[in-house]
Amino acid sequence: MIFPDATLGVLGGGQLGRMFCIAARSMGYRVWVLDPDPNSPAGNMADHHLKADYLDHAALEAMAEHCAAITTEFENVPAETLEFLESRIPVRPGSRAVAIARDRILEKSFIREQGLATAPFFAIEKSDDLHTACAGLNMPALLKTAQLGYDGKGQFPVNTIEDALRGFQQLQEIPCVLEERVELAQEFSVILARGIHGDVAVYPPGENVHVNGILDTTCVPANIETKTAEQAEAMAITLAEAMQYCGVLAVEFFLTRCGDLLINEMAPRPHNSGHYTIDAALTSQFEQQVRTLCGLPPGSTELLSPVVMVNILGDLWKDGAPHWQQLFRHPRVKLHLYGKHHARPGRKMGHYSCLAEDLSQANGVAEKIRAALSRTR
Ligand code: AMP
Repeated sequence: MIFPDATLGVLGGGQLGRMFCIAARSMGYRVWVLDPDPNSPAGNMADHHLKADYLDHAALEAMAEHCAAITTEFENVPAETLEFLESRIPVRPGSRAVAIARDRILEKSFIREQGLATAPFFAIEKSDDLHTACAGLNMPALLKTAQLGYDGKGQFPVNTIEDALRGFQQLQEIPCVLEERVELAQEFSVILARGIHGDVAVYPPGENVHVNGILDTTCVPANIETKTAEQAEAMAITLAEAMQYCGVLAVEFFLTRCGDLLINEMAPRPHNSGHYTIDAALTSQFEQQVRTLCGLPPGSTELLSPVVMVNILGDLWKDGAPHWQQLFRHPRVKLHLYGKHHARPGRKMGHYSCLAEDLSQANGVAEKIRAALSRTR
């Protein structure tokens, strides 16, 4: 076990890394962040910020020398980086799990190999594959890049083979998946923490609403049947066990109008839909990341209150700083901003969590604040 006062390393300096730093430092650990961006949100919260590329050999040597263990805040860290560090010190989650989660083809194939369902899909490596895929799928479909897609980026709607060929060309014919667009009834995610000895703690599913492909709100508990929640939790645990996973794992689910439960994707790290755990669960997902990284048992995932988490995007700054007093008027609302200097449309700047006796009250407060914050000044 790695105890407080030790130094932990995190690859990536975004908001997830920042919230990891806050959790780790409040528990008495020191944190080193590796991120080339001098203004990264996590760099500002770290004991030390190594401003270097993820492939910078000297920086990786320094991380390996100074840190007791290393984790990552994003799955697109180069594979060589994780493999190099893994040969020197504990890296959790390990490179194999990150490699699976990074690539939609590997990820969806892996999910299927575990006997779990995804939306029907075909791997697309060359344009010929699109003919087979279009013949084998019901339209409409979505063409998604296998790697580096997030928040709905790198996705093309497809209704015909011509759309598919055009989309693939626009994506410069990099590997993709073509996947059936299923009729969604609900979307939710299950987040779990799995320790080095295989002990698992699972959070209750959070119901997610996306706007323009970006997460907008998460409501917990999700408005789904108990048996669906149990089934999803079991599916998430199956994936974690099959990867011998150590760390925080998020699994995104689709519940279709026909009642099928499908896995969309997984993230080998804390997830935006788990930010509510900071204020409304006994242990936050970031504390779980610290615990699992350090070989400690996961903490309790008990939900302390119904909660609605709302993302704050850069669009809100279009007429100047938002009217925060509208938010602070509510004593059971918690604001988290990520210290980003430039508010671009669609950029995740922060979130707020509304705690209340029940979800309908929490939703009411969340929507009141949304309207008040965005009112033209
Ligand atoms: P992704 O980047 O794969 O997580 O997709 C972003 C969002 O697009 C999802 O959360 C869904 O709202 C929507 N979406 C993605 N794939 C599908 C699909 N196969 N069918 C229906 N909606 C989808």
